[in-house]
Parts: sequence; structure tokens; C-alpha cells
Amino acid sequence: MAEAGTPSPAIGRLAIVGLGLIGSSIARAARRYGLAREIVAVDTDEAVRDRVRELGIADHVTGDPAEGAAGTDLVVLCVPVGAMGPVAQAMARHLKPGAIVSDVGSVKGSVVAAVQPHLPEGVYLVPGHPIAGTEYSGPDAGFSTLFAGRWCILTPPEGTPDEAAERVRGLWEGMGALVETMSPEHHDLVLAITSHVPHLIAYNIVGTAADLEAVTQSEVIKFSASGFRDFTRIAASDPTMWRDIFLNNRDAVLEMLGRFNEDLAALARAVRWGDGDALHAMFTRTRAIRRSIVALGQDTAAPDFGRPRPAEDAN
Ligand code: NAP
Repeated sequence: MAEAGTPSPAIGRLAIVGLGLIGSSIARAARRYGLAREIVAVDTDEAVRDRVRELGIADHVTGDPAEGAAGTDLVVLCVPVGAMGPVAQAMARHLKPGAIVSDVGSVKGSVVAAVQPHLPEGVYLVPGHPIAGTEYSGPDAGFSTLFAGRWCILTPPEGTPDEAAERVRGLWEGMGALVETMSPEHHDLVLAITSHVPHLIAYNIVGTAADLEAVTQSEVIKFSASGFRDFTRIAASDPTMWRDIFLNNRDAVLEMLGRFNEDLAALARAVRWGDGDALHAMFTRTRAIRRSIVALGQDTAAPDFGRPRPAEDAN
């Protein structure tokens, strides 16, 4: 990562559209590591714009997409997936030749389909998706090290000039991310099983617990064990963002959900028939996956995700 004050930032004017968790983290990191000469924040929400000004994480703040696009070298769309197309449409004709449009959307196929048709000749699309985030939203939720040591997947369409893709890679690497390139379709399949289906399961299990008749809601909250508590963290994620993800990655999510349902039926059968060997073999395999994630530095090995323990246990 470059240190703040690097003499010639690789990007001239960087426009970030949508200053929520991800957009404000990019603004903070770009400033901290000196990755852009000028940072422009574009957001439709007046309260967000006011807060961004207070935080001082951008050089210019505007609600006007045309102003955000003018003279910009790299635009990063950080709005919910369903808003990517309309935002690109509003900015496109104000972009200069050679400008690059990127995004951070959690689905890639639908974003390419929604954004690409609006871009004029000579403006290049390099979609991206940082595999980093929290369950919090808004400009106060962001922080400059969000992407450090995390993966960012780029899905440049065929024919994208190498230089444009390299420019976007440089931004992410400058923020400490590890970058990998793949097709939008493959991205959507991989993320369906690693992110989208797990969120659906979390939303469902928390919803089911809330609807139970034999167990009161206050009991669910009071006696929430770590398994349920961990699901509630995921199920607290932004409703707009996740609605858009499921509306835009339908095929891959349904395919992975089909596999999930088959495997769940097999587990239910093992429970019904008291097949301890099958359960033990499955749980041993899954434990190895957890250990690989920790070994790759993508999560902490601390017990209970590093939650502080009661004082008497902490010694
Ligand atoms: P967020 O905190 O809710 O921020 C989104 C921001 O975009 C909000 O300030 C929102 O304003 C603004 N916005 C909405 N529509 C807009 C429009 N048409 N024009 C300009 N601004 C607009 O969301 P986030 O978590 O940063 O997510 C942003 C994107 O990152 C999503 O596409 C998501 O899929 C992707 N992503 C998220 C995560 C994660 O863990 N959160 C991880 C990786 C990628 P309002 O206040 O009016 O809503």
C-alpha cells in the first residue's frame, strides 16, 4: 500500500457514487494511501452528503451525477445492485473518452447487462466486487482498512483494454486487497454458494424462530446460543442491498439452493435414522473448510470470532 502523500497518484479524478459502507471505505482508503489526486463523492441522499462533508473524506461532494462524471478518470459505483443501471445512464454522456467505470456490486452478470449499454464508445467498464463488508451501512460504517488482505474479484468484459483493467487492479491493490479476475457468470455462481445462499439461510432461520408458536420471541432472544446469534448478525444486513442481490442473481442462487436442499434432506435422513457415522463424517469435512479459511487469513481463529469473554474467563 502506498503511504499518504505519494507524489503522483495513479488516478487523477476519482468519483465514488454511493457513500455507504463500501463507498466511504474506498474514499477513506484512497485518501489515506494517496491513490487519487481528487476524490469526488456523489450521493442522492442529502443527509449522506452532509455527513461526508463533516467526515472530510472527499474533496468535492455532490448530488448531481453529471457533475460527478465531468472530467473523471475513474468512477466507482457503490450503490445497491438495482440502482447501477440508472446511475450509469445518468452519468454516461458526461464521461470523457478514456474514462473507466467500475462498481462494487455483489452480483456481476446483471450489473454488466445494466451498465454496459449506457456507456459511450471509448469509456471502459471494469466491474469489481470486494469480498469484504460488515452488516452495517452508511458513511459512518466505513473504514480505510476494510479491504486489507481481502479479495476483490474483477470481471472485465472481453475486449476491455488491459490498461483499464490494470488501473482498477491498481486501485484495489493500493487499498491492500488481493485481486483475481474471472467471468461475471463464474463470479455469480461462486458467490451464490459462498455468500448469497448463506444469507438466505440466515434470513430464513431468524424468520422461522421469530414465527414459532411453541417458543416465545423473548425466549429466542434471551436464550440465543452462539449458532443462532451468528445467524442474526448476517440477517441484520441491509434489506435493500440483499433484496437486489436475490432479484439479480436468481438463476445461480436457485441452482445452489437446489443442491443445498438435497444435502439438507440427506442430513435430515441421517438424524432421523440415528446415522451417527454419516453425521460425524460430514461434520469432520466441514471443520476442515473452516480451518482452511483461517489458514488463508480470511478469518480469525479466536474462539467465538474473538468476542470478549467474561472477565472471570479471560485469564
Ligand atoms: P450502503 O451502506 O447502504 O450505501 C449505499 C449508498 O448508496 C447509500 O448512501 C445510498 O443512499 C446510496 N444510493 C442509493 N441509491 C443511489 C443512487 N441512485 N445514486 C446515488 N447514491 C445512491 O450500501 P453498501 O453496503 O456500501 O453497498 C453498496 C454496494 O456494495 C452494493 O451494490 C453491494 O452489493 C456492494 N457490496 C456490499 C458489501 C457489504 O458487505 N455491505 C460487500 C461487498 C459489496 P441512501 O442512504 O439514500 O440509501
